[in-house]
Amino acid sequence: MPDYSNPIMSASDDVDDTDPALPVSVLDCAIGRGVKASDGDLFTGADIEAVGLPFFGGCQCCAASIACYNAYPSQTGYLRCRDCIGEIGFPTTAAFEEWCKANDANPVDDEDDYRTTNDVGSN
Ligand SMILES: [Zn+2]
Repeated sequence: MPDYSNPIMSASDDVDDTDPALPVSVLDCAIGRGVKASDGDLFTGADIEAVGLPFFGGCQCCAASIACYNAYPSQTGYLRCRDCIGEIGFPTTAAFEEWCKANDANPVDDEDDYRTTNDVGSN
């Protein structure tokens, strides 16, 4: 029987994965746009990109590699990771869509997708 008496993280470590202040993730926004899973319950990169959002990206601040479930759109127009999003994420998917409209960013079917750090320096 495995020994669980020495876990890597103790119960006293302050880990809160249910922080209600977390902004919406790219996945939340994709769901808000009605993304359809092409493979059962799993969303593929193509599914996410079909609604005009990136599946993979890089954090604007720390360059961490992030995917739709842990990438947060920020009001800079770039993605940020959970550690770097701070107060500049979007509280709701509706707020994100409003920002996109106001900034002419990433309307669905437009070629100008929401930017990621992968785009920095391109062109
Ligand atoms: Zn970061």
